[in-house]
Amino acid sequence: MAKRVLITGAAGFLGSHLCDRFLKEGYEVLGMDNLITGNLKNIEHLFKLEQFQFYNHDVSSFVHVSGELDYILHFASPASPIDYLKIPIQTLKVGSLGTHNLLGLAKVKKARMLIASTSEVYGDPMVHPQTEEYYGNVNPIGPRGVYDEAKRFQEAMTMAYHTYHGLETRIVRIFNTYGPRMRLNDGRVLPAFVGQALRGEDLTVFGDGSQTRSFCYVDDLIEGIYRLLMSDYVYPMNIGNPDEITIKQFADEVIKLTGTSQKVIYKPLPKDDPMQRQPDISKAKEILGWEPKVSRQEGLAITYDFFKGLSEEELNASEHYSFEGYIKK
Ligand code: UDP
Repeated sequence: MAKRVLITGAAGFLGSHLCDRFLKEGYEVLGMDNLITGNLKNIEHLFKLEQFQFYNHDVSSFVHVSGELDYILHFASPASPIDYLKIPIQTLKVGSLGTHNLLGLAKVKKARMLIASTSEVYGDPMVHPQTEEYYGNVNPIGPRGVYDEAKRFQEAMTMAYHTYHGLETRIVRIFNTYGPRMRLNDGRVLPAFVGQALRGEDLTVFGDGSQTRSFCYVDDLIEGIYRLLMSDYVYPMNIGNPDEITIKQFADEVIKLTGTSQKVIYKPLPKDDPMQRQPDISKAKEILGWEPKVSRQEGLAITYDFFKGLSEEELNASEHYSFEGYIKK
């Protein structure tokens, strides 16, 4: 019989790619999402498959699934700064209560549970690049606190289930990731810039653009997560692409790629925006034999094609990013 995996956040960017991957590997996939930030369009192609089922459910409330489960992957959560601002309480609940419910489910089902943690646990880091041993520099009451602290609590809870209940657990710390199915209007920098280029607007760089990020193409990330789940490693593991770039350079790359005649304009830097971010992936290399394979040039071209394929309506219907209430006071 095929192994069964429950994927929460299945209609989201990463969740939907995970569904694809596990179905390709021959699993029966149960996808769960409450569709607050997820979009059924991302998994529309799966509904015709017998090995796929979808549950419209909020994991912050008790989760019931009938039958056996081999794995649970918890990917339900708002994941961009604009989303935390709009839905801070849900963000806190899904990382804390949602994780607790799923850990309980994993225990009953004797399933292995992998949680999606984040580079945000490092906050605005004082150690560069970030190793898994670094404890982080997080402002608990800042705009990102609702996400960062929920994810930190999630890691603590998951480790407690591992040590106290002997549950099999895995923790992936995901760094900035991009690719097809990202939401155009989630406020993240890549869809923001590409959307602006496609609409013929100027590209909004926050601050002076000297802050850095390191962008990982989604297929590389999914491969890393798959390997981590199948490994024996129970401590947090960074998965991301160490190729670091400033946001200004990134805007210039998007301008070149899209051929837009628009220019960069500068806006205030949001509060608690990390100045630099780059994963140290030594552990993933050594333990999983994993490293990213897709260059930013290749990945960006594929992602641009995806966004170009959106309808005029989708492109213009996107609520534009508003960082009011989010800027440094
Ligand atoms: N950013 C920007 N212009 C935008 C959106 C984001 O300059 O229109 C900056 C943002 O301030 C941050 C970086 O791009 O420094 C990455 O932002 P994102 O929201 O994608 O992810 P995160 O800050 O969580 O890494």
